Amino acid sequence: MRQETKMKMDNKIYEEQDYENGALYKTQVCVIGTGCGGATVAKRLTDFGFDVILLEQGGYYPATKMDQNELNMAGKLFGARGLATGHDGGNVLMYGNNVGGASVHYWADSYRTPSEKIRSWEQEFGVKGHGVAALNPAFDAIEKSLNVHRAEDEFFNPMNEKVRGACATLGWHGHRVPQARKFCQKSGHCMQGCLYDAKQSQIVTHIPSALKQGARLFSDARAAQLIYSDTKELARKANGVSVEIMDRARNRPSGKKFKIAADVVVLAGGGFNSSFFLMQQGFKKDLPALGKYFSMNPSTMVHSLFEEEIIQWRNIPAAWGVDEYRLRRFNKNQYVEGGYLLMPNQLQPASLAATIPGFGSDHRTWMDDLSKVGGTIAWMDDVESELGEIRIKSNGAREVYYPYGELTKKVLKDGIKKQVILNFEAGAKKVLVAGLQGVSLNTIDEIQKLDDLNIEAGGLSMASPHPGGGCRMGEDPNLSVVNSDHQVHGWDNLFVSDSSVFPSSSSLDPSLTIMAFSYIAADRIKERLSV
Ligand SMILES: Cc1cc2nc3c(=O)[nH]c(=O)nc-3n(C[C@H](O)[C@H](O)[C@H](O)COP(=O)(O)OP(=O)(O)OC[C@H]3O[C@@H](n4cnc5c(N)ncnc54)[C@H](O)[C@@H]3O)c2cc1C
Ligand code: SF4
Repeated sequence: MRQETKMKMDNKIYEEQDYENGALYKTQVCVIGTGCGGATVAKRLTDFGFDVILLEQGGYYPATKMDQNELNMAGKLFGARGLATGHDGGNVLMYGNNVGGASVHYWADSYRTPSEKIRSWEQEFGVKGHGVAALNPAFDAIEKSLNVHRAEDEFFNPMNEKVRGACATLGWHGHRVPQARKFCQKSGHCMQGCLYDAKQSQIVTHIPSALKQGARLFSDARAAQLIYSDTKELARKANGVSVEIMDRARNRPSGKKFKIAADVVVLAGGGFNSSFFLMQQGFKKDLPALGKYFSMNPSTMVHSLFEEEIIQWRNIPAAWGVDEYRLRRFNKNQYVEGGYLLMPNQLQPASLAATIPGFGSDHRTWMDDLSKVGGTIAWMDDVESELGEIRIKSNGAREVYYPYGELTKKVLKDGIKKQVILNFEAGAKKVLVAGLQGVSLNTIDEIQKLDDLNIEAGGLSMASPHPGGGCRMGEDPNLSVVNSDHQVHGWDNLFVSDSSVFPSSSSLDPSLTIMAFSYIAADRIKERLSV
């Protein structure tokens, strides 16, 4: 067996200039990805005393390398520089490409998994060992280490105040959003990365803990190929990973490579990436469910103009959440309303400008009053029978295929309708549906205009920051990719630990669910390594 290449220092995050071309590094567990899934599973495995290497294809941007400029930071932190879309261009796919993954630019809303989801995953999809009794101790520990607490009054910006007030007059149920923050400076730059290390992302929580306990983190290092020997045994074994060293400035492989030899490989590349990685390895022929059952919480947005200053880009994004319509309501099997969580929106000026429809003087009118523009967003809980699929195209590129089914369209439209009602109740004098159709309303009496709204690609501005599925968990290898131990079907030492294992959409923001699932994954990997 070849000798391991020695690194110059331990307990640090390595970057592109630190690697030797052709090097070999050895470890017990190689974790691919450093987001909520990868960082948490690594932290837990180092708690148990295992040696871990984390691989991250993106760069390392600690607070000292952040500048709060939304375009610079989108280029540094977001997958595909923030420009990825679904198959028809209708949905902006938002995910991380950096040490800490999407947690570095997330909003830090921190919900436990809703009980109806846990029940459905157990009863309809046969998931074992992820019930309330297994998840709650993990939630307790994670909430403590991320300082999760309900938003206090001082963190309500004017839009949050208005939404809270409108809920009270409409009689809609809402709540203070649980937050993962400590000593927040109210800058409003959560989506650019927190310059104050106040947001409790993975780069200030689980990653430093794992490094302190001996883990090594290789950034600018893309797992390209799984190394395995087909021994014809019942379960296949991974031996490690072949890694491409990335040219960070160009966001492409530099041509240099190294290898990791590992006893266990854990895939945590995130919901948009993990199933795609396994497809690139040729797994689809043995695992027909790979890439399927993909959810992403498609989110519609509404802008609204107020008499007074809102300055939506200051203070935390969402202090108040509206859960009145979180669950879909039916009457005699006919959809009536609901199926989404409503929140005040927060966009910095450039993103706001890009999502305000219109050209020339129409657009200029809104831009002149930008400080008075507020708005809301509706996170749709994906319809289980109308989920999307991650595919691999003939040129090898990833395709995120997500056509809107009939029920999905109804839920999206109802989500827009309720946002319009909420914004007018909050005092808006004009409301604009984000998207090229440019539908605007001057009073609530014009709400019938929404009946003609087309729910189609390009017609609406939509974002999808909560991917899930593609490596669905379950016990049937024809309908799922990993078993309830997070182990890929047919593999002895290959695990998945991120949102791609969700059997269906998590409904609420998923970060805490991903981390709690990763606690359970770490327990199973510990058992596997102890055999
Ligand atoms: C703008 C925004 C706001 C959000 N707000 C919230 C919120 O308030 N609350 C909440 O709960 N959730 C929120 N989310 C969602 C949440 O951040 C993500 O669901 C979660 O962080 C995903 O964690 P993950 O580990 O599954 O994947 P990721 O965070 O995507 O991490 C995967 C990592 O793996 C790396 N990777 C992928 N493939 C490879 C490879 N082949 N080799 C090496 N590395 C690889 C990627 O670069 C990435 O860094 C938000 C997301 C966005 C984009
Ligand atoms: S609002 Fe708070 S958590 Fe968000 S970036 Fe500013 S200081 Fe950090």
